[in-house]
Amino acid sequence: MFALNDKTVLVTGGSRGIGYTIAQSFAEQGANVVISSRSEDTLQQAAENLSEHGQVYPIPCDVSDAKSVKDLIKEIIEEFGSLNVLVNNAGITRDNLMLRLNESDWDAVLNTNLKGAFLCTKFASRQMLRQKSGCIINISSVVGITGNPGQTNYAASKAGILGLTKSTAQEFSSRGIRVNAIAPGYIETDMTDELNDKQREELTGRIPLGRIGSPEDVAGTALFLASPLAGYITGQVFRVDGGMVMS
Ligand code: NAP
Repeated sequence: MFALNDKTVLVTGGSRGIGYTIAQSFAEQGANVVISSRSEDTLQQAAENLSEHGQVYPIPCDVSDAKSVKDLIKEIIEEFGSLNVLVNNAGITRDNLMLRLNESDWDAVLNTNLKGAFLCTKFASRQMLRQKSGCIINISSVVGITGNPGQTNYAASKAGILGLTKSTAQEFSSRGIRVNAIAPGYIETDMTDELNDKQREELTGRIPLGRIGSPEDVAGTALFLASPLAGYITGQVFRVDGGMVMS
């Protein structure tokens, strides 16, 4: 149904959380999936765990480092001869209120979340332009739409992802490359595991569908966007948030 058999897919930040589950979903559809992240041991272990679902290959990469990204894309092209889907998923938080937010936390978040997506798009799109086809999925966040106190750096990076998405969608549309963004709401992963029971209850009360999201909720949207079912969709932002942000 998703026609992803033998497609080459790169999922950055694929060693855990949302990226891991996206990688699993694509592998289950018969794609050759490359996962990357900084920590080599975790990445290797993730690829081993995912191997029961399909073809998954670990290649370490720090998305904030241009050489690291360039080498990653080069290795993928040498190994598979193509790159069909890029999922810009790697991301971090360094939360603090504006007055306490220091420059290094600003830089770390912007360099990973926004510059990382730029670098991966830049090097991956060269191959996609040669192929005259490709699909890029950028993982943003609903806070990139709404803002969030204590997350100025993160929200700015995720809002930047939306600008990157719409601009590259316009640049690449005539060349057969579609670019879309997913803006997840609150999804259960390591990134969000610090909530206590009271906070969890309060948060769930603000979600119309009445539950916190799962990585599978995001992976389903990624599969759809990468498939021919979404062949007439580019430059769009898909909120996967249980209805939390509707305006
Ligand atoms: P997570 O569980 O913390 O996983 C983050 C992944 O990114 C890990 O694989 C991590 O591996 C990798 N990563 C971090 N920095 C990297 C770098 N510089 N280069 C390469 N890989 C890097 O986070 P998650 O919750 O799954 O989030 C995934 C994406 O969804 C992020 O972009 C996040 O902002 C977005 N999102 C999450 C939520 C949520 O509620 N969880 C909501 C909205 C949006 P290493 O640390 O080993 O590099």
